[in-house]
Amino acid sequence: MERILVSACLMGRRVRYDGRAKTSSDARLAAWREEGRLVPHCPEVSGGLPIPRPAAEIEGGAGGAAVLSGAARVLASDGSDVTAEFLAGARSALAVARSHGIRLAVLKEGSPSCGALSIYDGTFSGRRGPGQGVTTALLEQHGIRVFTEDHVDEAADYLRTLEP
Ligand code: SF4
Repeated sequence: MERILVSACLMGRRVRYDGRAKTSSDARLAAWREEGRLVPHCPEVSGGLPIPRPAAEIEGGAGGAAVLSGAARVLASDGSDVTAEFLAGARSALAVARSHGIRLAVLKEGSPSCGALSIYDGTFSGRRGPGQGVTTALLEQHGIRVFTEDHVDEAADYLRTLEP
């Protein structure tokens, strides 16, 4: 059975920067959970960041690939540099995915770690632009397809191609 990596906050775990969850009510995610397919993971907590923690954004809204290549940092709203923790978290997510042979993930959109289509622009003003989080970028560089919680139907279509 194909396993699916999923953002822990979507599964009700209170791991977000504000100490809350972002529990998904998606019926398909619930069914996959019942089947034992889901592997919940929070890269930021695994990377060593506390709960709660200051919000963080990628400098210039540059995207996760720029952080992975050393071209951009991840900064917290208090000005601290949390790049190392974000990189450690991304590596931990990849290690977990590999340990389960995972080829597919459903991650929380908009996060500087988990975002797949959009991230905040680095100004802490609530504006988003196109881009991926650090974990998403690393997973996709290693062939793992990442879908947002709003695109679970597409994730299911992809799952069918892996598990006809
Ligand atoms: Fe959720 Fe990902 Fe943020 Fe962890 S890093 S709280 S799993 S969005």
